[in-house]
Amino acid sequence: MSIRNRVAVVTGSGSGIGEVIAKSLAREGARVVVNDVNSEQAGRVQADIVKAGYEAIAVTADVSKQSQVQDMFKTAQTAFGRVDILVNNAGIAKDRGLMKLSEADWDSVIAVNLKGTFLCSQAAAAYMREQKYGRIINISSRAWLGWPGQANYAASKGGVVSLTRTLALELAKYEITVNCIAPGIIDTPLFHTLPEEAVANLMRAQPMGTIGKAADIAYGAEFFAADESNYVTGQVIFICGGKSVLSSLSV
Ligand code: NAP
Repeated sequence: MSIRNRVAVVTGSGSGIGEVIAKSLAREGARVVVNDVNSEQAGRVQADIVKAGYEAIAVTADVSKQSQVQDMFKTAQTAFGRVDILVNNAGIAKDRGLMKLSEADWDSVIAVNLKGTFLCSQAAAAYMREQKYGRIINISSRAWLGWPGQANYAASKGGVVSLTRTLALELAKYEITVNCIAPGIIDTPLFHTLPEEAVANLMRAQPMGTIGKAADIAYGAEFFAADESNYVTGQVIFICGGKSVLSSLSV
């Protein structure tokens, strides 16, 4: 798998899935920009990567703010000279049933999960088009197929799938691929914020009866990031222990 010396920006990589993706891309030889809205978390992951003998910088930025996103990509370009791989991983969840969902909960989830993916993809594509090379990997969720109590989250992740397919078409001529991973339940800090009842409901609909690991998602990201996947674009891969099949059958 060739990603050696590629420059990868991984958003929200101060914890959870993003942290594991950043570390695995670094292990495969990429130079990594560890982004997070939380500077302490980003610094910790960057230090871990450097300590392990690989290259990384930490950049604090909120992906839902255009000026911060543009500054982040300028910093990446200055530090490493190019931007080859973008993993749009930063995401939040604020689950509520429709009647309890506030405008603020709707807006914040759409802002980080969907607008953040758009802003980072636009900023990265400016560099990737010049290089005639790029890999954009969006982290959606199996929830984009629909799940009770997740109207804002599911809508944001469905938007990420639509964005993936559209950007794949727009950017194909620049040899930029755009793909998407839709994880099922993964054991991360975000998962542990879910109420007990929500976890019980999720586990009942889990064909394998188990929770996935962040490394399962990182493996998918490595596939899409590699030079060898140059003929794969606009695709969504479910890494969810079979739950996507169950949801389609039950709709
Ligand atoms: P996580 O552990 O909460 O990690 C997300 C990271 O993103 C956190 O470090 C968070 O910082 C950061 N972040 C939040 N808002 C940001 C912003 N505006 N700009 C930059 N960084 C920001 O969550 P995770 O479970 O690893 O989730 C990673 C991605 O996978 C998300 O897109 C999520 O929707 C998706 N996903 C997760 C699961 C799952 O079961 N875990 C399933 C399907 C999809 P703070 O900690 O300071 O908020």
